[in-house]
Amino acid sequence: MPRFCPKCGSLMKPVKKSDGVYLVCMRCGYTVKASSSDLKGYRISRRIVHTEKEKTIVITEEERLRGLPVTREVTCPKCGFHEAYYWMIQTRAADEPPTRFYKCKRCGYVWREYE
Ligand SMILES: [Zn+2]
Ligand SMILES: [Zn+2]
Repeated sequence: MPRFCPKCGSLMKPVKKSDGVYLVCMRCGYTVKASSSDLKGYRISRRIVHTEKEKTIVITEEERLRGLPVTREVTCPKCGFHEAYYWMIQTRAADEPPTRFYKCKRCGYVWREYE
């Protein structure tokens, strides 16, 4: 039977660790070592379920690309295409110039500008 968190009443999920399987509360983080009988009720839910949150991330990624500027002055190192989205990310100290990233419009390959 699936176990419920004794602290907040939420459903607990099995998490595999190096020394065995634990039941972890998804809401408050309460953790308890699982016995084999605890895990019986979980057997059917083995497949990966895509949560609403993951879907949102995918949509956001597409939305973000749509708003990005496109350059024709680069060549994709993977497929040789000449159009790529680009954006800047401040990866190091603030007084250094930001790194420019490219994403190929054809194959989706992402690479960073080499100085
Ligand atoms: Zn809890
Ligand atoms: Zn490409």
